[in-house]
Amino acid sequence: MANNSSQDFVYVKFHDYYASNSFSVPSITCFNQREFGFFLLKNKSMVRHKSFRNKTDFKIFLTKNVPSNVYRSAAYYEEPELEMSQKGWLGADLVFDIDADHISTSCNKIHDNWICTSCNFKGKGITPDFCPVCGSKKFKVKTWPCETCLDFAKEETKNLIDFLERDFGFSAKELHVYFSGHRGYHVHVEADSVKTLDSIARKEIVDFIMGLGVTLAHKKKNYYHNIDLNTFGWQKRLRLGLQEFLSTAKKEDLKKVGIKTYTALLKNKELIMNRCIQEGRWNSIKGVSNKTWKKLFQHIKKLESSQIDTVVTTDTHRLIRVNNTLHGKTGLKKIEFPINHIDTFDPFKEATAFNGGTVKVIVSDVPIFRISDQMYGPYKNQIVNLPNAAGILLICKERAKIVKKNV
Ligand SMILES: [Zn+2]
Ligand SMILES: [Zn+2]
Repeated sequence: MANNSSQDFVYVKFHDYYASNSFSVPSITCFNQREFGFFLLKNKSMVRHKSFRNKTDFKIFLTKNVPSNVYRSAAYYEEPELEMSQKGWLGADLVFDIDADHISTSCNKIHDNWICTSCNFKGKGITPDFCPVCGSKKFKVKTWPCETCLDFAKEETKNLIDFLERDFGFSAKELHVYFSGHRGYHVHVEADSVKTLDSIARKEIVDFIMGLGVTLAHKKKNYYHNIDLNTFGWQKRLRLGLQEFLSTAKKEDLKKVGIKTYTALLKNKELIMNRCIQEGRWNSIKGVSNKTWKKLFQHIKKLESSQIDTVVTTDTHRLIRVNNTLHGKTGLKKIEFPINHIDTFDPFKEATAFNGGTVKVIVSDVPIFRISDQMYGPYKNQIVNLPNAAGILLICKERAKIVKKNV
């Protein structure tokens, strides 16, 4: 836990950010119909059911109360400040959350760990839903906003956008893409066609994007005959995905997918493209069994789908982080960026809020990390003088404490 002077330091910095001109209240559609919520730094409590008449009042509230996290509803309400049953739900944007917490990556076992607060059982990597020993749902979790993990999350986000544009037909104007400020990305759809969808309809959209219920194979029948050139949705995605994967696949790639008999696949790439993918004659390649096809398609399904957080999208009363506000776990901003900028978007450069100044901290343990173009760490039990952006990140992640202010 951070000591008091560390908390005071973060408080002052967050306050200064909200009071300064570098913070601008973002444009939020139907601002007056949104519920706002805050986690306050001073008394460590959540305040909900707030609404604001205008942007100025909102900014004044932030400067006065200095929250560590700022949220607003995805929903529109007649009376957003009343209790839930009285609010008068008018509709909600369709929101998606992609977080490295739910994506298995090559490195999360190195920098993420969890410990069950009931029985102290601990593990590395993704936190389970239930403790495997005592069944408790409560964990103390230690994660890191790692670049590799964020790159994985970005790929999932690109898949999601592809579904929203190509399968659902949303225009770029209706989609808003954000860096979350911590370990992931958010995508909001603002369109009349989604506004009044209920939880069940939203769940159907989630299932489709995650590829839930996509039938890959059957023991006796070969279902791949059905893949048709003129279809859309998953049929088309599986076919094109397979084409793309096989065109560059090598022995090692197939082994990684769990395919042991890969010779026929590698030797007949051309035939597979023509006879199978184009004409649907999936049984025409000698030495490629149904089991192999199944493994291949399972892999393609994983490549094509997007690992979104189901609960966030299906909860029509959900609070989501406000654009341009600081994330209490990093001091980084949630920021929107244009869809066509996603490949080059750099969260550790574009989402930093604290430029200038340095801070002396004692760091307990942190992997190598980057802010802007500068690399820092790894540090273990050592005192370092860091630029504010780096120092605040470590303090917020509970990896460092203040030694002395503003050296
Ligand atoms: Zn336990
Ligand atoms: Zn990682």
